[in-house]
Amino acid sequence: CKLEKESAVSTSCDVTFKEINQINSNIREDLQTLVNTDFFKYFKLDLYKECPFWDDSNRLCTDGSCSIDIVEDWSQLPEYWQPKALGGLHDPETDILEGTDDECSFLDQLCQGRDQTHPAQPPKFDFDYCDVNEFESKESVLVDLTKNPERFTGYGGQEARNIWQYIYGENCFSTTTEGKCLAKDAFYRLVSGLHASIGVHISNEMLDTKTGKWGPNLDFFMARVGNFPDRITNIYFNYAVVAKALWKIRPYLTHLDFCNEYDNNVKSKIVSITSQLDRNIFHEDLLFKDDLTYKLKDEFRTRFKNVTRIMDCVDCDTCRLWGKVQTTGYATSLKILFELEDADEETQQYIVDKLTKYELIALLNTFDRLSQAIEAINNFEKMYNDKLNIE
Ligand code: FAD
Repeated sequence: CKLEKESAVSTSCDVTFKEINQINSNIREDLQTLVNTDFFKYFKLDLYKECPFWDDSNRLCTDGSCSIDIVEDWSQLPEYWQPKALGGLHDPETDILEGTDDECSFLDQLCQGRDQTHPAQPPKFDFDYCDVNEFESKESVLVDLTKNPERFTGYGGQEARNIWQYIYGENCFSTTTEGKCLAKDAFYRLVSGLHASIGVHISNEMLDTKTGKWGPNLDFFMARVGNFPDRITNIYFNYAVVAKALWKIRPYLTHLDFCNEYDNNVKSKIVSITSQLDRNIFHEDLLFKDDLTYKLKDEFRTRFKNVTRIMDCVDCDTCRLWGKVQTTGYATSLKILFELEDADEETQQYIVDKLTKYELIALLNTFDRLSQAIEAINNFEKMYNDKLNIE
């Protein structure tokens, strides 16, 4: 990899690759523990939602490696994940009005002192970068992420390429009079970073058909990511984006009073992780430089929302699951970075109060995906150098 490690990751980040590696090794263990806790390891999605962009009625996932285990035995789950508790989350407005004290509707308590008898006003605008209604859908199933790791599934070929092409196609913000597409660098970096991160994870967890064991495959990694320094840079860029979003909601997170059973444990991990992040890791105000107009921001939002909706066209359950988790994680980061920025006090409060628990779960799991990708990139680099020394 020909990266200059002492140089800044991008013009909108004040940190170098080396510094991000350092931050990452400091937080890695805590982050790993956090996403394995009962609160952060479950995600909800509708596996049968139709693809909104083309006819996918022939969808068929016959390969065992791309199907996922869903939670069927609810009695094994802790109290706060029982349908009753989850049902409370389906209708947060009712929760507030009825004054339930369900521990897991923790977002009601996100900001200390919030008067729960006066629900926040409905938004005047759409702030969401993804479709948050899906989490409330009756069709959605609960999935244990730790039991369905993101790894090589064999999904690929023309169908996967079409999906990637469609996603990159969303980055055509306007066309010149000659019909040339005017793209947004930040949008491209986000989707390329996501694409590259998936590439790292599938290279890191490949099935060795000779031994039957899962493990890293250097050649596969080099062909997809390692030989493309820009793709690696985009993973670091995404790390900086998500890290800044976490840094930004840090004041609210310390007030979180969720699921008291393990509150202190989980909360101390979140605080420990976010306290190692720095405001300079990313400068969202520089992202659009002079052109952060309301219209552009809104277009960015709508286009990113489409990226999250394209995940419903992915014909591989594991890929779709992790695609949903990560696009929701980026959508949540963008919402925190851009919508909190120029909003008045009341709107800011509204946005943070209304983050669903699945957005928070996605945010932390996306950060963990990037963190693990960076750790894997450094391991692949060692494997590459060892190989060179042997040859
Ligand atoms: P693709 O990865 O399909 O890429 C198509 C083209 O895009 C490439 O030829 C290249 O020109 C360009 N490109 C590739 N990477 C980048 C980048 N980072 N930035 C810019 N351009 C790039 N497979 C699994 O095994 N496990 C999974 O969990 C998984 N999850 C997926 C989730 C989603 C949402 C999607 C759409 C696909 C997923 N896949 C997964 C499939 C995987 O991403 C690849 O599509 C597949 O492995 C085939 O790879 P490929 O080398 O043919 O090229």
